[in-house]
Amino acid sequence: SVRWGLIGASTIAKQFMINAIRAQADGEVAAVMSSSAERAEAYASENGIPAAVSSLDALLSKEIDAVYISTTNELHLEQGLAAIKAGKHVMCEKPLALTSADAKKMVAAASNAGIIFGTNHHLRNAGAHRAMRKAIAAGRIGKPIAARVFHSVFLPENLQGWRITRPEAGGGVVLDITVHDADTLRFVLGDDPVEISAFTQSAGMAGGGLEDGAMCIWRFKSGVIAQSHEGFTTQYAGTGFEVHGSEGSLIATNVMTQKPVGSVLLRTASGEEELSFDREDLYTRSLRQFHAAIRGEGQPSATGEDGIWSLASAEAALQSAKSGKAVKIDPKL
Ligand code: NDP
Repeated sequence: SVRWGLIGASTIAKQFMINAIRAQADGEVAAVMSSSAERAEAYASENGIPAAVSSLDALLSKEIDAVYISTTNELHLEQGLAAIKAGKHVMCEKPLALTSADAKKMVAAASNAGIIFGTNHHLRNAGAHRAMRKAIAAGRIGKPIAARVFHSVFLPENLQGWRITRPEAGGGVVLDITVHDADTLRFVLGDDPVEISAFTQSAGMAGGGLEDGAMCIWRFKSGVIAQSHEGFTTQYAGTGFEVHGSEGSLIATNVMTQKPVGSVLLRTASGEEELSFDREDLYTRSLRQFHAAIRGEGQPSATGEDGIWSLASAEAALQSAKSGKAVKIDPKL
């Protein structure tokens, strides 16, 4: 079995990842770590977790095989490096760190230690995005020309904390959502971005100089151009992902989400077709691939390198917003 230690008594673990671990035939949540002993205890009892600890050393000395890191973003690096040193497999939340250079250090350490390292980019596990990738690879839209990503949402009240108040914790919508769009564009197009231009805004929710909205324009290696919109402040926008090619268009609606919902329409000269796709929970699939990777079968659905790519992209977007110039994306892998 794979015994997991949770680093961080977080909302995402409670909402999705504990279930995803327990959905595996061989998955077990063995312990949780919070910086507060009281919160660790409360979280463990609410979620039926046998052990609660309040230090990283205490967690890493438990009998665990893997850790899931879902603390605030400035902590991922240090916690990841410690877990790798202790020989634990690591599933780390995005962004992997505050800079791609730091993310690279962590991913290199994991690879040198021979442990499995994954980035929790859930969207490439969505049936909708996998169906789009497959359709594009099969040539169903001809040559891809352009993509549009609609990923401006409303940050729920219970999450209106560090994301909109603490730059030092890696707050802001670019590190939160643009990283996901970078990864999903790479996955669906099967292509890498080379350049980005971004405008950001503070539309009234985020403070501390943080952005709560962003619009980005991307150029990919193949020549595809893309636009993406990320936000915390639009209540009624809905989400979507479109790829337009020489022979057809893929138009997906309500797919930039944590749930296996939404629809994908293929429009070509022969008319419109709804693509069917599997509706497995995104996080459960991500964990299944991770467990398989531990057994030596394949790789996590998003690797450490994928996490470096998405962070390097977000970094370039922030730099562009600041400088008013287009910025090259180079993860230096
Ligand atoms: P939370 O704010 O819920 O948790 C982050 C940290 O905040 C926790 O580790 C905890 O610290 C602290 N915290 C939580 N609740 C309280 C409280 N009531 N009082 C004081 N401190 C508290 O963050 P999220 O779950 O939204 O995000 C965590 C990470 O996961 C981030 O890196 C984020 O980017 C990522 N994420 C990824 C998603 C995905 O789909 N891939 C979706 C959502 C988030 P402690 O552990 O010390 O108790």
